[in-house]
Amino acid sequence: MKLSEHIKIFKRSLQYLFTLSRTHMVCLILGGILQNLIPYVPIYFSARLLDALYEGQPVDRLFVLVLLTVGIVFLLSLTAAWLSSARSQASNEMYRNQHWEQSEKTMQMAYALVEDPDVTLLRSRIAMESQTGYNLWRLVFCTESLVSNLTRIFTSLSLTMSFFFLDAVPLSGKLILTGGILLTTAAVVLTSRKTEELTDRFYSGCVQANVFGSKYASYIGHYSSGKDIRIYDMAEGLLRLCDQENSDINRQRVSLNVKTAVLNTAGQILTHILRFGVYLILIRAALSGGVSVGSIARYVSCIMLLIGAASECCATIQQTFGNSAYMKRYFSYLDIPNPMYQGSLTVEKRDDNEYYVEFRDVSFRYPHTDAYALRHVNLKFKVGEKLAVVGENGSGKTTFIKLLCRLYDPTEGEILLNGVNIRKYDYDEYMSIFSIVFQDFRLFAFRLGENVAAGPKYDQERAARVLRQSGFGERLASMPEGTDSFLYKDFDGSGIEISGGEAQKIALARALYKDAPFLVLDEPTAALDPVSEYEIYSKFNDIAGDKTAIYISHRLASCRFCDNIMVFHKGRIIQKGSHDSLIADAAGKYHELWYAQAQYYTEGTKSS
Ligand code: ADP
Repeated sequence: MKLSEHIKIFKRSLQYLFTLSRTHMVCLILGGILQNLIPYVPIYFSARLLDALYEGQPVDRLFVLVLLTVGIVFLLSLTAAWLSSARSQASNEMYRNQHWEQSEKTMQMAYALVEDPDVTLLRSRIAMESQTGYNLWRLVFCTESLVSNLTRIFTSLSLTMSFFFLDAVPLSGKLILTGGILLTTAAVVLTSRKTEELTDRFYSGCVQANVFGSKYASYIGHYSSGKDIRIYDMAEGLLRLCDQENSDINRQRVSLNVKTAVLNTAGQILTHILRFGVYLILIRAALSGGVSVGSIARYVSCIMLLIGAASECCATIQQTFGNSAYMKRYFSYLDIPNPMYQGSLTVEKRDDNEYYVEFRDVSFRYPHTDAYALRHVNLKFKVGEKLAVVGENGSGKTTFIKLLCRLYDPTEGEILLNGVNIRKYDYDEYMSIFSIVFQDFRLFAFRLGENVAAGPKYDQERAARVLRQSGFGERLASMPEGTDSFLYKDFDGSGIEISGGEAQKIALARALYKDAPFLVLDEPTAALDPVSEYEIYSKFNDIAGDKTAIYISHRLASCRFCDNIMVFHKGRIIQKGSHDSLIADAAGKYHELWYAQAQYYTEGTKSS
């Protein structure tokens, strides 16, 4: 990668850090500067103190110098500690915002891309690289190190600058010292560069091991596989695989440690030779009376700090550049464009909620597949209607909803909203008229209110109201922090764990909070038993009020209360009508499915 590209990526990365949390960055920079100024205060004042002692200055003058040293160090340390604590709080916010932004990207991405195997691979690769320590973590670490080392370089330089103007040190001495500093810095830079290369190679090797390690750990750690592991006695085999992965990593780690120790020792030896040389040159100048005792101490300390900071700075630049390829990949995910046709029409916000939707001869094939998931679908419905979509698994129910809310565009035919092709509407506006709870909905490790509002800002009362409507009220009342409580423990140790049923209620509340004219429930209750699903579905008819509600289920009983039921079979709508009219058609699919399921429930009841 070219230098200009490294710089471009680093610039963008810094901007990105600022957008994630300005407070975090301000604390990182100010805290880094102050923290690194602290060692220079005693160096500077001790030199002044030594000179004052040597010159036999009065005690009160010495006392002022001591007081200044202690006072300034105290103030700097206090401010740095305060900034560091503010930073650690802001850092939580930063990682949370990052998580949110990535999720938002995934949510806003054209859905075809979310399901695309290349995009999925890119996403999981980025996740693994982040877990190994690249991307954001490395970026923060490098930025902090750059701030620290640049502060040390500038301060050391400003405190040693006067050395080069001393008459007592001959030009040859100054040249030798400058050469020595440059040589030592170059040697330390080379050794640290080699160390970095080795460390980088080690960590990039770890990405792969982490992929396997986390898979094995998830097999072992997840309760759903616990039964199989015990019954089929798989524990030993899995542990052996984990152990093999760990011992490979450990072996590589030991070899890395030995190599870096050798390299660091070489750098250290050179630094100490230089220190010796600096002492000699300065003592010689002091003997001729041209340099004070205090200045000798100051110059030696500052030159050593300068060399250390310069070499660390170079190592950090190396590490930052090493992270560029990872940051590039990270940004490439955030930059994935949306290939769907972007219309610009505004969706008329109708107070009367008079929307109607029409599917006109719609057929659809998923990308990279030949078989049609939907075939010649024709239907019309308007807001306020309660519509049920039933059919066996794989009959095309979810695909129908994906097309309705434009997660995909039809392969053939068109979908119209109030007579206009939905592709012509502004995508975000069109999406804003749908609230959908999918079967595989996701909740995030954010605050409960943030989950309900699907964003960082939420109206507490409104969130609590919809949570109560969706049946989560009792649990909410038992939570001391109410809607401000964190879900799960990823970001907050006091986060709450919720059951599958409670998660479903929160997902339903999220759909209600959005208050969109279309409310779609795509079997979010599939994990519940049929009776509980029926209860939730029938209750939702009241909650849905004058909205259009579309209920999807492969369990016919859950949807029987709907006036308008559509039966899907192999991607086609094969029957439409009310429960009574459909059941009356003894030759129809609905009749067949109804009795097949009724028999199943009856047998289930008998056996229980
Ligand atoms: P249902 O919701 O009725 O269970 P779906 O709409 O999920 O059915 O699926 C309809 C058909 O489309 C099925 O044959 C299924 O295998 C296929 N299908 C669903 N999702 C995808 C996808 N992302 N890629 C390819 N085929 C898919």
